[in-house]
Amino acid sequence: MRFEQVLGQSELKQMITSSLQEDRLAHSFILLGPAGYGALPLALATAQFLLCKNRSETDACGECSSCHKAANYIHPDLHFSFPTIKPKGSKPVTSLDWMKEWRSFLHKNPYANIHEWLIDLGGDNKQGNITRDECVRIVKTLGLKSFESEYKIQLIWMAEYLAKEGNRLLKLIEEPPPGTVFILMAEQEQKVLNTILSRCQILRTTPINDADIKEHLRKLETPDDDLDRIVRIAKGDVNLAIQLTSAEGLFGADMWLKWLRVLYKKNPLEMVDFSDEFARLGRESQKAFLTYGLHFLHEMVRQQSHPGLQPNLPKVESVAMVKISQMLSLNHTFQAIALLEKSIYHLERYANTKVLMLDNSIRLSKFFDINKEGQDASQKKMNV
Ligand SMILES: [Zn+2]
Repeated sequence: MRFEQVLGQSELKQMITSSLQEDRLAHSFILLGPAGYGALPLALATAQFLLCKNRSETDACGECSSCHKAANYIHPDLHFSFPTIKPKGSKPVTSLDWMKEWRSFLHKNPYANIHEWLIDLGGDNKQGNITRDECVRIVKTLGLKSFESEYKIQLIWMAEYLAKEGNRLLKLIEEPPPGTVFILMAEQEQKVLNTILSRCQILRTTPINDADIKEHLRKLETPDDDLDRIVRIAKGDVNLAIQLTSAEGLFGADMWLKWLRVLYKKNPLEMVDFSDEFARLGRESQKAFLTYGLHFLHEMVRQQSHPGLQPNLPKVESVAMVKISQMLSLNHTFQAIALLEKSIYHLERYANTKVLMLDNSIRLSKFFDINKEGQDASQKKMNV
């Protein structure tokens, strides 16, 4: 992948290329940010830039043999480490055992996240790990001479999965052998070992602008009608935008408004019916539904704390949101947000969706009992 193909992140690209020009490129750096901001594509482009035999000041050539190998993730001086799972009864595994799956994951969507990767590996909620054996392998591999390039590059994706085993790599990360560059990536800075963070230059990725995301989605043949709505919800996260495009028929948001009506009416049979309807959606659509709900609730927080602000929602949904924002307290809105975030977490781990949604309905419907003035909200007519 060339820098040109990486969405956004122009400051980081510029910083990386100019520091190589000036011979002050850090030996070890860590890219921090959500997967959907593109830390992995940026790391892949940096690797190809370093390996290219004919690079310009700002990008790899894309045509030399090194570029071809790097672009196909088969360059012998480009090493990958990432969380893996150990199939039942197998010997301990390293990233090498999953290279075929990894390459196809990168070809499919390098903005994808760890949950999507773990599903590719096992299809269930197995916990991934960068194992002790993997760390031993890294130390061994980097001890060897490079094969054909002046650089040897070690990518470690989702460095928060290194856990204590990461301490085996400290010496190498602090002072890699000549020509060796470590590029780590992580989403949750607080979960990365401090001993590792302190030895890396820290680079933070930033949200990708709407125009770039739209352009990318157009290439994936997303209907133009959906684009504005998707980028509005995705807030700079390309992967989220891609997930939203693969959800069928969500974007009328009709279903979300329907759920709010069910919650308001608190009819148990309707709640059960709604959970059944939700459970029949595909996994991506379920996530998209909840993600849309989060966007709606975040807009509601803005509205509740600054009444009169122009909501970042289409007209019909705006009207509904403003009405509901007057019925719930700010505190309840925050609780609803926490509940939906937790639901997305559970969905990614294959929870029982029917039970999950019914439970959400029961909890959230209680918020409609008392409005923020302490009056019985059911006296107010809700008409969304
Ligand atoms: Zn090249």
